[in-house]
Amino acid sequence: MIDIQNKSDCCGCGGCVQRCPHGCITMKEDENGFLYPHVNKDACIDCHLCEHVCPVLNEGEKRETQACFAATHPDDAIRTASSSGGIFSVFAHRVIGDGGVVFGARFDEKWAVIHDVADTIDKVNAFRGSKYVQSVMGDSFEKAESFLKQGREVLFTGTPCQIAGLKRFLNKDYPNLITVEIACHGVPSPGVWRDYLGMKGKGGVVNQVNFRDKSTGWRNYSVVIGNRAKPHDDDDYMACFLANYTMRPSCFTCPFKTGKSGADILIADLWGAEKIQGIEVNDNKGISAVLVYSDRGRSFLEKCEMNMTEVDVNSVLKHNRSIVESAVKPADYGVFWKKYCKRPMWTLRRYGTLTMPKLIVRAKRTVARLIRR
Ligand SMILES: Cc1cc2nc3c(=O)[nH]c(=O)nc-3n(C[C@H](O)[C@H](O)[C@H](O)COP(=O)(O)OP(=O)(O)OC[C@H]3O[C@@H](n4cnc5c(N)ncnc54)[C@H](O)[C@@H]3O)c2cc1C
Ligand code: SF4
Ligand code: SF4
Ligand code: SF4
Repeated sequence: MIDIQNKSDCCGCGGCVQRCPHGCITMKEDENGFLYPHVNKDACIDCHLCEHVCPVLNEGEKRETQACFAATHPDDAIRTASSSGGIFSVFAHRVIGDGGVVFGARFDEKWAVIHDVADTIDKVNAFRGSKYVQSVMGDSFEKAESFLKQGREVLFTGTPCQIAGLKRFLNKDYPNLITVEIACHGVPSPGVWRDYLGMKGKGGVVNQVNFRDKSTGWRNYSVVIGNRAKPHDDDDYMACFLANYTMRPSCFTCPFKTGKSGADILIADLWGAEKIQGIEVNDNKGISAVLVYSDRGRSFLEKCEMNMTEVDVNSVLKHNRSIVESAVKPADYGVFWKKYCKRPMWTLRRYGTLTMPKLIVRAKRTVARLIRR
């Protein structure tokens, strides 16, 4: 049975919970707000299915990229509302238009992030935009399996570990499945996000959240929570995430990069676009990098309408190392969490401020922002 001794050995995909035939496993939050599986040993029949589906215990093979593209959504409004070049929406709308279903991450009514399925354009649009919180998988793998067995086309999107978890869970190749992973720096704790929102909530009702607001540009994106917008590196929650403090332990030794997840396609920000040969569009509204890992991925792309230029994959990886490398664990990661458990908001403020740009830079940007209004 699954028995997590070392927290870095579980990415929280929830595959074991969904596969256990006796419902012996439940996901419970640890003291840092991450979900881990817990087994009811009295009910366990020792069938080992949970170990068989675990993507960490069964690491995939490294795969070469077949092709790499710079791509943008043809509709500028959708591109601007997306984190990168809006390619997720191109894929999702194509699948929904052909009668398929799409899995992705959305906010629920309390602004927690959950994985869900959509069969209409309205529902799928809720998946648009990066949510920098680990999404809760619920029964997404079971639902995806059921749609696949019915013969519906399924587009499953998520972090590489979620794609790897799905693949292990299914244990069989379905020709009607297309998997798209997002490049993944790592995921912050849902518990920290809940605490942070709780604090923000005291200042008023949170009626909107946008982690990648582009009104200040794609590169210098802002974070909008309720009626407050801030440069991303000037926000305590984002600063602690980008400095790797609030990230899940498994993200520091991620076994799903370099095609190991089994995904057909990877989508990412095309950072450094201005230095990449062959790119003409560079208007700071966002450009995606699209890496193709399989023949199925390649033929899926052929059926999608978007602006696309083939580029050299190495020049893309040069500016976006998180596609192939794990984030580095801060030396004081343990100290951060000890402090966080005692004084959550003080710790976010303190560590956030340490990693932010200097006060004078932040003050100048705030003035510029107020003048622009
Ligand atoms: C936690 C996280 C870390 C990331 N790290 C990097 C990085 O290091 N480098 C990089 O280039 N890109 C990173 N991205 C991906 C990038 O921000 C875009 O999501 C991606 O390029 C797709 O952009 P888009 O414009 O095509 O579509 P968008 O509409 O912006 O993206 C929507 C897609 O993101 C998925 N998604 C959103 N939030 C989550 C979540 N919490 N968990 C799982 N899936 C989610 C949706 O399901 C959907 O598939 C990260 C995204 C997240 C959520
Ligand atoms: S060994 Fe089988 S019964 Fe026991 S927890 Fe794992 S999947 Fe469930
Ligand atoms: S990685 Fe997924 S399958 Fe493995 S123990 Fe964790 S939740 Fe279960
Ligand atoms: S870095 Fe790896 S382990 Fe962490 S969320 Fe991303 S894919 Fe999963």
